Amino acid sequence: MSIHEILEKPEFTKSDIVQLLSASGEDEKLLFKHAASVKEKSIGTTVYLRGLIEMSNVCAKDCLYCGIRKSNSRVNRYSLDEKEVMTAIEFAYKNRYGSVAIQSGEINSPAFTDKINQILKASKKLTNGEIGITLSCGEQSEETYRTWFESGAHRYLLRIESSTEELYSKIHPNDNSHNFSRRLNALRILKEIGYQVGTGVMVGLPFQTLEHLADDLLFMKDFDVDMCGMGPYIEHKDTPLYAYKDDLLPLNERFKLTLRMIATLRIMMKDINIVATTALQTIDKIGREKAIQIGANILMPNITPGKYRDSYALYENKPCTDENADDCKNCIDVRVHLVNHQVGYAVWGDSQHFKRKQKINKKS
Ligand code: SAM
Repeated sequence: MSIHEILEKPEFTKSDIVQLLSASGEDEKLLFKHAASVKEKSIGTTVYLRGLIEMSNVCAKDCLYCGIRKSNSRVNRYSLDEKEVMTAIEFAYKNRYGSVAIQSGEINSPAFTDKINQILKASKKLTNGEIGITLSCGEQSEETYRTWFESGAHRYLLRIESSTEELYSKIHPNDNSHNFSRRLNALRILKEIGYQVGTGVMVGLPFQTLEHLADDLLFMKDFDVDMCGMGPYIEHKDTPLYAYKDDLLPLNERFKLTLRMIATLRIMMKDINIVATTALQTIDKIGREKAIQIGANILMPNITPGKYRDSYALYENKPCTDENADDCKNCIDVRVHLVNHQVGYAVWGDSQHFKRKQKINKKS
């Protein structure tokens, strides 16, 4: 079947997706053009912001790909205090970002739960409830997720990393704290509580095939996610998976494959929020803008205080680590206009997919 014929279909099969993910040349252009037009028709050309606060690189996990894994003793560990987080939130609010995303290494403790809780309450107070808050703080208990939801967090990002259990277990240690079923269950709990739920995968991992990636997209459709963040896997020399660096796709191919994943997902899930991830910018200076052009609609400008950014090195050559939030602010508008989009300031920019589901639930 030609790409043109596949793009006409109302639903893609796994083999359709594999074909879309393998597209090159004119076929790839057709895929990108189609995804761009699906996006424009269903959610328009506005890009929403989430000021990204990398709150702590302290992590109890030992994911085999991640630069801030617990066993990496070369990391300078830090945790922003509440005041530093609130300063960043105030910056986002004053600059009309609309939302923030608080990300952290995984810490499961009453003190951590409470710290996030206090930050949520203080943020709502500081901004008269106006700032939207996404959390990305890993797997937590149902009680913790509920507490945070009740205190004002309303979106949660938890990447499944791979929806194939076998691949998941190759990129994580095989122990209780890196358990595929537990991670999947965490996503289910988040959904049940009422969060807008986002997930995602890394693209170009060792051992990963196009079939795995096709299954990931089908998983997202089947789980009915509201948001997605996918980025290229970028090797880090202080991690076990670095041993496979010579087996990886070249960086520019990982980059293009990620764009094809975003474009295909946009066609499959027309009104979800899709992030143009920072890892794309690591490979191509205008990588995030390219992602916006072909399907993404969310940007996460880093507003972590500049002095900590070097220490949140999930992978090598992470961009903007030598900047401060003010530098980021100046280039957002220029970058977004470059690809004929506009920034949606001072609004939450919630997932329209989630809102549509809520309306349907209310009616029935
Ligand atoms: N602890 C939280 C969690 O488990 O979701 C959030 C922090 S975690 C560092 C955020 C994401 O970084 C992960 O979900 C993973 O996909 C991504 N990441 C980690 N190492 C990476 C690498 N080497 N290349 C690309 N992305 C990476």
